[in-house]
Amino acid sequence: MSGIVAIVGRPNVGKSTLFNRLIQRREAIVDSVSGVTRDRHYGKADWNGREFSLIDTGGYVVGSDDIFEQEIDKQVELAIDEADVLIFVVDVEVGITGMDEDVAKLLRQSQKPVFVAVNKVDDATREANAVEFYGLGLGDYYTISSINGSGSGELLDAVVEAL
Ligand code: GDP
Ligand code: MG
Repeated sequence: MSGIVAIVGRPNVGKSTLFNRLIQRREAIVDSVSGVTRDRHYGKADWNGREFSLIDTGGYVVGSDDIFEQEIDKQVELAIDEADVLIFVVDVEVGITGMDEDVAKLLRQSQKPVFVAVNKVDDATREANAVEFYGLGLGDYYTISSINGSGSGELLDAVVEAL
């Protein structure tokens, strides 16, 4: 059995850092969807003997803020279609932004399991700051540090359980 897990979120929250930490190998997959600017990386990951595909989303069109935000929404919609489970990465250093709220809205409307990963919780002093992310309306969250790896085990336990 396998499954597809997509990492979504606004730019700079640490999606690619998390992706690179979790994958064993990259896969080249040719995109069949035309007319959409996509910057998506595919990899294979394994957790407790459970293999799954991982997608790092992150493409954007350089232009106005509007287009930028629309492109993030497009990436999220594609990921919702493509994936079985979604990891929504947010940034404890910055807190909830308008873009986070937009993404959260799309994810709440999806029928897919969503796991909120509050990233950049590099040490215990930042744990308390994560509480505000309940405000995204997606329930409980996992605190992680993609840089030092802490918390990713608990997150992955939950993710593979949902696959
Ligand atoms: P993306 O745009 O969401 O893919 O974000 P990146 O993975 O490119 O990371 C954006 C910035 O956040 C980079 O400077 C990373 O080094 C930094 N970053 C990512 N994860 C962490 C983390 O767990 N802790 C800290 N302090 N910085 C992080
Ligand atoms: Mg990235």
